[in-house]
Amino acid sequence: MMQKKSKAQVFGSKGEDSKCNLCNKPLRMSQAHVPPQSCIEQDRRKRNVQHYFFGQQKYQLQNGIHFYTLCQKCNGVLGDPYDKELAAFSKSVRSKIDSFKYLPHYSWGFECKPNLIARSLVGSFLTASRGCVNDSHSDLQNFINNPKSMLPNQLRIGFWLHCYDSVMVQPDFMMVEPEKTPRRVLFMMKYFPLAWILYDQEEGAPDFCQQYNIHDFTQYLDAETDKLVSISVYPTKEKHEFWPWVSDNIAIMIGQNASDNAILGDV
Ligand SMILES: [Zn+2]
Repeated sequence: MMQKKSKAQVFGSKGEDSKCNLCNKPLRMSQAHVPPQSCIEQDRRKRNVQHYFFGQQKYQLQNGIHFYTLCQKCNGVLGDPYDKELAAFSKSVRSKIDSFKYLPHYSWGFECKPNLIARSLVGSFLTASRGCVNDSHSDLQNFINNPKSMLPNQLRIGFWLHCYDSVMVQPDFMMVEPEKTPRRVLFMMKYFPLAWILYDQEEGAPDFCQQYNIHDFTQYLDAETDKLVSISVYPTKEKHEFWPWVSDNIAIMIGQNASDNAILGDV
């Protein structure tokens, strides 16, 4: 049975001086939302959405999960231009879905700036992390703070349609399949209409996106930051609401970062 809670699990607290997860400076923390508030449709924000966060506990929350892990400046930089681009892309997909009674079998084309969207997603991961202390975190910080840099080596981004009202944020877990190498997933974030996954692609391992029939977003990333790219979205590449948590043959293990560092705070 899932446990229901009415409080949000957040890191940090309001007005606290702490180390910013993006610039590492000791500053006053500001409130950051994961998923970015701009990605969630206005009239859905006040709905009682379900959040699955840090394991299988269930929260009935409004307005998303918030964190006090970023300074005001970094929070602002993430919001515009990065989250703004993710929000625009999400909105285009949403409008398309809303205009159809049934999802078609052909693909839709959308224009967006993938380099900005990738930074928004990595930013959400850092925002939802407790403390950014090791090298992998500094690579990710550098990716956001240096517009010319590329996504760190093994990191990949995939996405699929999430045609449900539920919002879900899950950092740090392993997907384990019988006779296959476990996959480290850094971050998964779902809201209507998209689900995103940041994972490690180990060399020699089968392609994750192909294996699970999801969209490969990494292929659109480029050294040219503001490049506008046309992206094909296949409505048929749909997963059920709780994938990969409830799947045949996939076991989920929660990582250290999520299980050790969760703090219960006030909404
Ligand atoms: Zn900062």
